[in-house]
Order: sequence, then structure tokens, then C-alpha cells
Amino acid sequence: MDKELLAMLVCPLCNGKLKYDRDAQELRCHYDGLAYPIKEGIPLMLPEEARVMDADEKLHTSQGRSPGRSPGRPQERSGDA
Ligand SMILES: [Zn+2]
Repeated sequence: MDKELLAMLVCPLCNGKLKYDRDAQELRCHYDGLAYPIKEGIPLMLPEEARVMDADEKLHTSQGRSPGRSPGRPQERSGDA
């Protein structure tokens, strides 16, 4: 994503700044608790396309990225049948 483009993007609902999550390819508004997806480099700034973040996710991202991630991942699927 282009950093200058990112700086221009605001939430369509609250006009707040969005936080870019590179791993998830999402732009997140913590005010609304929504994550707008980025499809092929193009952010979909539509509330109906946005994913609702759960409370835990909001907490996690609003604290910024810490280098040491906790080892316990919430929804890891190890499907050993
Ligand atoms: Zn917002």
C-alpha cells in the first residue's frame, strides 16, 4: 500500500484515521470497530464490506504492535483427524 494514499484514507462513518494492518490487509477503525478489507491493493471503504472486529481484536491492535507476541493463538486449527 502507498503510504501517502493511506494517510488520505479516513473512515467513511466517523472520518477518523484508519490503521493499516499489513498482515490482514485491512484498514481498521477503532472508533467504529470495523475493519475495511483491501482487495488487490484497493481499499474497500464501504461499511457493508467492513468486518466487525471483536472486542479482543480491538484491544490488541489499539495497543500497537509489540514485538513479542503471546504464544497462545485464539483460533488455531490443528485438524488432526
Ligand atoms: Zn470509523
